Amino acid sequence: MTKGIILLGLPGAGKGTQAKKLVEQFSFSHISTGDMLRSAIKNGTELGLRAKSVMDAGELVPDDVVVGIVKERLNDPDCAKGFILDGFPRTIPQAVALDAVAGEMIQFVLLLDVDQEEVKERLGGRRTCGSCGAMYHVKFAPPNVAGKCDKCGLDIIQRDDDKEETIQKRLDNYNELTEPLLEYYGASGKVRRVMAAGNIDEIYRNIVEILK
Ligand SMILES: [Zn+2]
Repeated sequence: MTKGIILLGLPGAGKGTQAKKLVEQFSFSHISTGDMLRSAIKNGTELGLRAKSVMDAGELVPDDVVVGIVKERLNDPDCAKGFILDGFPRTIPQAVALDAVAGEMIQFVLLLDVDQEEVKERLGGRRTCGSCGAMYHVKFAPPNVAGKCDKCGLDIIQRDDDKEETIQKRLDNYNELTEPLLEYYGASGKVRRVMAAGNIDEIYRNIVEILK
């Protein structure tokens, strides 16, 4: 089976959701730079403090910071079985740094293709439990009691990086810095495109078909 996969796609294209499904079915390690940074923020580490102000403003965390944490993570023994990169690389310099340490392991660059208006609706309605991290959506996956987490009963909130002006900034950043990665990887023949609108399970089946 596949060694390394890079998931590309607009913020809100469903990279995290699909990565989790792949991890459940196959022996991939899920490397989510967003999750790693958020956990550093929660733990109040130096890296976390540096990342928080940048992420809250919808800006990208500097290349050297993310490259550092991904390189370290790729050294963990579980990654040898295969890994999914979710949220990394986001810029050409990050891709170049990744190629230098793990280029031969990357088998596919999977683009989850979805239009901007759809991700604005997906992200704008997203709510997160401030305590356990459970995710909801005001329209597509509301909690049983409005504003309260089904799992722990505590308040659910809108993350700063899911607020409207921040979403627009994230989309702009993607178009400017991440979109060029498709061209960067295009020459390698590793890019696969999956339509990522509609039913989550159907999208997942299409992904698995590609990875076979
Ligand atoms: Zn909760």
